Amino acid sequence: MELWREILVDKAKQNRDQTVIDRPNEDELRKLTEIGRLIATSLSTDEAFEEFARLVKSLVPHDRLALAALTPDFNHVDSVFVSGIEVDQPNASQRVIIPHGRIKHQMFVDFQQYHAVDDELNELTELVDDEKYRIAAGLRSVLSTPLIWNGEPQGVMTLRSLDPKAFGLRQRMLANEIGRQIAGSVAMARQANELRRLAEEQVAIAEIGRIVSSNLVIEEVLASFVEVVRGLVPFDRVVVTAFDEDLNEVTDVLVDGLSLEQETIGISYPLPESKIQQNVILNQQTLVANNSVYQELAARSVAEVQRYNIGSRSLLMTPLVWQGRTVGTLNLRSKDPQAYGEHQRELAEQIAAQIAGAIATSKQYALLKKESVERERLSKQNDTIAEIGRIVSSTFRLQDVYSQFAEEARKLIPFDRIVIATLNPDCTIATDVLVEGEGTKKTVGKQFPVPGNVRELALRNHDPLILNEPDYSKEILPKYPLERDQMSAGLRSVMIVPLVSRGVVVGTIHFRSRENSPYNQETASVAAQIGSQIAGAVAASEQFESLRRSEELLRTQVTVFETSADSINILRPDGSIESVNDAYLKETGYTREEALNQGPGFLRPPGQDAEYEEAWDTLSSGRSWFGVLKSVRRNGEIYPVEHSVTPVFDDDGEIVRFVGIRRDVSDRLQAEEDRAARMRLDVENRELAEIARQREEFFTSVSHELRTPLTAIMSFADILSRDRQGTLTGLQLEHLDVIKRNSRSLNELVEDMLDFSRLGTDRLKLDRSDVEVHALVESVVESMEPTIRAKSQQVEVVSAPVPVWINADSGRITQVISNLMANSSKYSESGSNIRVELELINDYAHIKVVDQGVGISETEQEEIFTPFFRSKREDVQIQPGTGLGLAISKTLIELHDGQIQVSSIENEGSTFAVILPVTSHK
Ligand code: ADP
Repeated sequence: MELWREILVDKAKQNRDQTVIDRPNEDELRKLTEIGRLIATSLSTDEAFEEFARLVKSLVPHDRLALAALTPDFNHVDSVFVSGIEVDQPNASQRVIIPHGRIKHQMFVDFQQYHAVDDELNELTELVDDEKYRIAAGLRSVLSTPLIWNGEPQGVMTLRSLDPKAFGLRQRMLANEIGRQIAGSVAMARQANELRRLAEEQVAIAEIGRIVSSNLVIEEVLASFVEVVRGLVPFDRVVVTAFDEDLNEVTDVLVDGLSLEQETIGISYPLPESKIQQNVILNQQTLVANNSVYQELAARSVAEVQRYNIGSRSLLMTPLVWQGRTVGTLNLRSKDPQAYGEHQRELAEQIAAQIAGAIATSKQYALLKKESVERERLSKQNDTIAEIGRIVSSTFRLQDVYSQFAEEARKLIPFDRIVIATLNPDCTIATDVLVEGEGTKKTVGKQFPVPGNVRELALRNHDPLILNEPDYSKEILPKYPLERDQMSAGLRSVMIVPLVSRGVVVGTIHFRSRENSPYNQETASVAAQIGSQIAGAVAASEQFESLRRSEELLRTQVTVFETSADSINILRPDGSIESVNDAYLKETGYTREEALNQGPGFLRPPGQDAEYEEAWDTLSSGRSWFGVLKSVRRNGEIYPVEHSVTPVFDDDGEIVRFVGIRRDVSDRLQAEEDRAARMRLDVENRELAEIARQREEFFTSVSHELRTPLTAIMSFADILSRDRQGTLTGLQLEHLDVIKRNSRSLNELVEDMLDFSRLGTDRLKLDRSDVEVHALVESVVESMEPTIRAKSQQVEVVSAPVPVWINADSGRITQVISNLMANSSKYSESGSNIRVELELINDYAHIKVVDQGVGISETEQEEIFTPFFRSKREDVQIQPGTGLGLAISKTLIELHDGQIQVSSIENEGSTFAVILPVTSHK
């Protein structure tokens, strides 16, 4: 028994511990929510991070915290925030490579935490250099939690501690919860950073354009060039080479970073025959070689293997192409074995496009050195291009850029009219952003379809298109009727320059002139140069503007979405789920992975099709829908949900999404129902109480009316039966006995009726005092003697060995025991035995009345305490009775905080037990 109890207690404790591990408690939940809100509203301020670190520390004690975001290539992390113990870490950098293998797999593929202590950390040092500095700082355990958002890894939160036991199961659970709170915000910040970085890159590339066109001394240009490139593409070595016309000889015009001794700038050597370089030079394709690919490549070249030996691990080689010719290469090398991805390739190509012209012109310039007029012209041209570069990179106010641009461009290119237009992403609509000069009136802000417009000819390839007379009149006018207006305004030739940024056409410039043939290869090449200067700015500033506008809004929206207590789901036009917030997951019981991409019937319980379809009809016709629909949770539970769903439209009025806000209203509906039920019950209770009161009133007056004559009958029958004069015959005396017996039972009936009428009212009051049960039982037995003797029955009393005291209304207890004994006598044969037992068990007095009578069947045992119930047995029915005695007894005993119980076997006998609490021992 004891052992069993111990096991149970143990089990309960375990369960409790288990739940403690599984879920954060109230206080922790509050802190977690606070973290979520804090990070969602202010991811970029240091103050917010300090507060964040403080909250994390109060949840999971640690000595160092680092938060890092994954880079778009998923091979690196960028440090976002670090706090705690300082680590003396030479060469610490903002961007750190994630080692391939187990840890990366565990965290960013399987989304599991990484936990390591002491020796395991030493193993880590083989993968990550910096780890040894952290160990040196005394940090003995690490817990890295991947930050997962929408099923994708976004970054990692790493906690470290001096205590090897710092991160137990519970701390890991909490770290996971923190991760879930902040992952969404980190994701948003990553996106915003990515956009901002793209915009900044465009500015930097424009800056390169400015540098290269501002100075004709190529060596000076390249020196400042290196610094800007470093901010764009990571490298440990950069080389720019230039080729001669026939592609026979190579000259290194720039070498910077990791270098071999024999390399010096300006040395020329024959073009190597390596296939790799040939492909770059002849096919003008960029080469990217990382890690093992680079290693293989290096093994095949004497020069490259030396670079490998001094640490190079990846290579990016891009051709410098000017007017269709390869004029040189830009070579970047890095110690990082994952340095170059798609994005770095694109950037390098853009940089190459910017410097190719400078490399080419510098050579032209060298050739033309002696012709001073031409030199001056070239130098002025470069100044102007530099000025354009300065303008576009110094301001993001587009309108300023355009008009200043036109002013500067006039110095280089002849025109009587200039129009700059931006293009939508699929190049079908052009928007005029600058219209200056002669011809048709100004149309800034107006939009035109591209098909059928002459500019479509320039979009086919990315080069400037020249349409001079007589071709213009002969070929263009018949095909493009819109051009007639220009012709009639006297404009007879046009040069269309596509603005290309990152390989995408973002706009066009039209130069028009009254002259017949003002445009040639040279004006085209200058136009291409200034076009490339402004294109980046157009793309960047548009991105920048909209980014600035949307970023703030986005952050607010994310906060609303994430912290909303209501569930929010965003649906695609076909009703499938695009995203959901945490409240939605909590409500439905599904994980985000399970919920995303589910179709419109996801939470629809069976049999609700009509209701759902009706809602869907409203929505797909473009109207909002409000109402309550039944939903089904993951665990199968069906519950009512109040919906508010609104379609979101794009500019063309097409539905692009639905935003649904849902709220589980089962509690509310239940509360409403409960309230209604309570009110009904109140009314019923009041009615019942009133009925009970009326009944009691009735019984009281009736019994009063009955009692008065009854008392008279009883007293006079008593007086008569004493027979003072001795004149009554034996038969008369017998008759008097009948009168007395019947009036006594009539009196008992009246008493029962009175008691019964008081059931359910508060009129049954107890008059309590300390009572000794033996004495009470003795007196009941004594008063029952005549009744029992009349049936020749015997009573046996079995006492407890000690006095038994109860605090009770002795009259009422007497009434109950008398009733039980009367029943025993009534429902037993003449001559049978009745036993009254008294026992003291665990502070309770047990008073039992045991008979050898007719007994009570099991089904009837359940009913005998209900008022007016009497057995169907014939031997019971012939006995007088009302069926009220036991009902009253039960009520009286329960008023005493006791119980009345029956056990019986039919035809063998019954035992009634009254159980009452004893008072503290006397
Ligand atoms: P009454 O005795 O007036 O009928 P009670 O409430 O005292 O009313 O008893 C209800 C019914 O329970 C009886 O009619 C009888 O059927 C059954 N009963 C009570 N006590 C006994 C007993 N000792 N033996 C058998 N039946 C009993």
